[in-house]
Amino acid sequence: MKILSIVNQKGGVGKTTTSINLSACLQKMKRRVLLIDLDPQSNATRGSGINPASIDVSVNDVLLDRADIGPAIINSQDGYDILPSTPSLTESEVSLLNNDDREFHLRNKLSSIKNSYDYILMDCPPSLNILTVNSLVSATGVLIPVQCEFYALQGLSELVNTINQIQSKSNNNLKIEGILRTMFDSRNNLSSDVSDQLEQYFPKELYKTKIPRNIRVAEAPSHGQSILEYDGLSKGSLSYLSLAGEIIKDE
Ligand code: ATP
Ligand code: MG
Repeated sequence: MKILSIVNQKGGVGKTTTSINLSACLQKMKRRVLLIDLDPQSNATRGSGINPASIDVSVNDVLLDRADIGPAIINSQDGYDILPSTPSLTESEVSLLNNDDREFHLRNKLSSIKNSYDYILMDCPPSLNILTVNSLVSATGVLIPVQCEFYALQGLSELVNTINQIQSKSNNNLKIEGILRTMFDSRNNLSSDVSDQLEQYFPKELYKTKIPRNIRVAEAPSHGQSILEYDGLSKGSLSYLSLAGEIIKDE
């Protein structure tokens, strides 16, 4: 079983899009999948067809010890399980800082349910804050979505430093599971240059699959659907299936 933290402190690089669509593709491939929305923006929750305003119990209640994790998990339209978030998750962000086991809180919560899943994916906020640290401490691997543009590599080295620190201090098992090129446009020279540099620096970690920029991928969340449900034959859908294939090959 794998627990994958989907992380990049840079905003808008495709973390949530990858969390939702990879969850749907792994579920389609008959894996048992749980998606944890760790972002107060709650985009993974909305994109999974769930209105945060309609939720009784969220990941925030679990992290504040107000609810057990099991009953807080619900089923998404696509069939994978989700531990949803609401904007109130900012409460946990503050209160975890005063907690003795602040970095280990989520890991402790996951121990009772992790054996029910083949994959647990965590959608992180665009920051290396305490929620992201909790995710990295709980994870077996990190999946880093990267948009191939000028500042991408700079942010990546900062992220790799953080991952190395957490690995040596709190989670020896943590490794970079893979780096994913998102919103890729092969006609854009800069995109290709950055992609070449990634191949050079991260030959082992870089997924072969590149997710192309595809309008259908951007439209799907407003329908509360993954790209598989929304347009299963689109380029975006085929590329996320190919990514899931790469991950499964590694089992
Ligand atoms: P944040 O840091 O705010 O959480 P994020 O890293 O989760 O952002 P997303 O929300 O997944 O990024 O994507 C940012 C925007 O780019 C969204 O509007 C999304 O629909 C769009 N997008 C993501 N992937 C693609 C794609 N392959 N093709 C076209 N649009 C995309
Ligand atoms: Mg997001």
